[in-house]
Amino acid sequence: MAQQLDPETREALIARLRFYRDLGLTEFYRRPIDESENVSAADLTSETLDQDSRVASQPAFQQHSQEDQPIPPRKPLPTAPEIDVSVPLADCAAALQLIRDEIGDCTRCALHKGRNKLVFGDGSPTARLMFVGEGPGADEDAQGLPFVGRAGQLLNNMIGAMCLKREEVYIANVVKCRPPGNRTPEPEEANTCSQFLFRQIDVVRPEVIVALGATAATYLLGQRQPLAGLRGRVHSFRGTKLIVTYHPAYLLRDPRQKKEAWADLQIAMRELGLKAPGKG
Ligand code: SF4
Repeated sequence: MAQQLDPETREALIARLRFYRDLGLTEFYRRPIDESENVSAADLTSETLDQDSRVASQPAFQQHSQEDQPIPPRKPLPTAPEIDVSVPLADCAAALQLIRDEIGDCTRCALHKGRNKLVFGDGSPTARLMFVGEGPGADEDAQGLPFVGRAGQLLNNMIGAMCLKREEVYIANVVKCRPPGNRTPEPEEANTCSQFLFRQIDVVRPEVIVALGATAATYLLGQRQPLAGLRGRVHSFRGTKLIVTYHPAYLLRDPRQKKEAWADLQIAMRELGLKAPGKG
């Protein structure tokens, strides 16, 4: 039978688990208690007590942020469903339209409430290269097209630097409706909507996908990792080569990272057999 903990011990245990969670440690196991390891209150050293008093004297906002937050259950990210059938090249545009029709005037997640226009995708239905972003911003929401604001202009420049035209690539997002205030989509929203993205990828069947930013990388790879650990190498999304780089909106905020993004795009070019300008 489970042992009942007194409220003080329970609170202390919850605080400790939160601390471990913040360190990224989420897997725990139980082992039998060795009574000889137990420490009585009298064994506590003055150093331990000092540490406790330091915790108690933390600024109120730090304590508040720990106490307020219940530990959310960590849901595994769903993996993309299997590819149904491959679509003949001549039917790709019609197949994409079928997906668009199925989405319809979608209310499957909360993001529909603030939507002006749903942003499905844009570009060649048979593109060799596909870019995947996070979600529409204000300009995209107004026009119903992905990457048309300042970040879109930068993406166009990036595509041009790869010796490609925007019409030659396909561009889509993880979520098709604008999150309020351009916040990151909630897992519930991204998991609901990304099923349509996966189907778009299945139809287009690009040779290379470039994930723009951490949200796109997370939902395509099915794992949460800092962007730094994902860049600079070729991943796989169900057999398609996947490269991770910064989101153009981030590059607008920190232009020093453009060089790094260009290095990522050169990996994509290498995989596509494209040559950088000026290289014979
Ligand atoms: S974000 Fe996607 S799932 Fe949510 S309402 Fe829009 S189209 Fe539907």
